[in-house]
Amino acid sequence: DDVILEVSHLKKYFPIKGGVFSKTAGQVKAVDDVSFSIKKGTTMGLVGESGCGKSTTGRTLLRLIDKTDGEVRFGGTDIYALSKKEMRALRPKMQIIFQDPYSSLSPRLPVGEIIGEAVREHKLVPKNELDDYITKIMASCGLQSYHKDRYPHEFSGGQRQRICIARALALNPEFIVCDEPVSALDVSIQAQIINLLKDLQEEFGLTYLFISHDLSVVEHISDTVGVMYLGSIVETGATEDIFANPLHPYTKALFSAIPIPDPDTKGNRIILEGSIPSPANPPAGCKFHTRCKDCMEICKTQEPVSKDMGNGHVVKCHLYD
Ligand code: SF4
Ligand code: MG
Repeated sequence: DDVILEVSHLKKYFPIKGGVFSKTAGQVKAVDDVSFSIKKGTTMGLVGESGCGKSTTGRTLLRLIDKTDGEVRFGGTDIYALSKKEMRALRPKMQIIFQDPYSSLSPRLPVGEIIGEAVREHKLVPKNELDDYITKIMASCGLQSYHKDRYPHEFSGGQRQRICIARALALNPEFIVCDEPVSALDVSIQAQIINLLKDLQEEFGLTYLFISHDLSVVEHISDTVGVMYLGSIVETGATEDIFANPLHPYTKALFSAIPIPDPDTKGNRIILEGSIPSPANPPAGCKFHTRCKDCMEICKTQEPVSKDMGNGHVVKCHLYD
């Protein structure tokens, strides 16, 4: 029952640089009034089509980029109320792992240095214990101690992601945003990394926000799921509830697009027509109304409010008014 992360009405708007006639041509509402909480030691999956604001949500709630509005509480602390210095001190507790492990690893540093760099900066471990500490962390991530003297290019994609995970883990984090951490990896390697993340969660009591467009991966790793569309969370709840009983028309369409090997179920697929509208110019009312097969008159003008349908299964859609 221990909420470690609480996001309330988070907004992140990016100004659009104007042309000749105006200084600003408007703004992209990348994250538009997003609220959710994550319990300690659990994983929340964040799903949605690319460009829906998943990554921006992850970065904004970590304060890696500044919010436009709203609040983020980590362990009860309003992180945007912290000074730069206080935020820096908190940073080890809130980490991120990216999709492309190669571009986030310095090619000129040996792996031991990469993993130890921030540990040393934050003085988390006495100098004379650092080497043993790194060895231990690497072992937890399935890396051998002789790997310390090697360089990122000498490793496979899966091993590079292990290095990135080790670098984050070395800071003794409590919460990690995993932004598409297996999307760039071969399918055969994906399961290994997912299982590593699960093992580490168990061993170190980690909490994850797991961002992915891969629903089967999300179903496997998440305790709760949030479904994002055009900067908003349209449905959230326990993973079993969301997958067994999706309520929002967007969630239904998204889930029915999962390739199912059973030919009998093919007829039930809902095709998502059209592309996502521009977040710079989102539709009025329900943002999904331009693609929704259940669209009603009210949907075109009035934005639906979130409703709890029981067991924390929350949906934002006029069908449930
Ligand atoms: Fe569709 Fe209306 Fe629900 Fe939006 S509010 S998802 S348009 S039924
Ligand atoms: Mg992304």
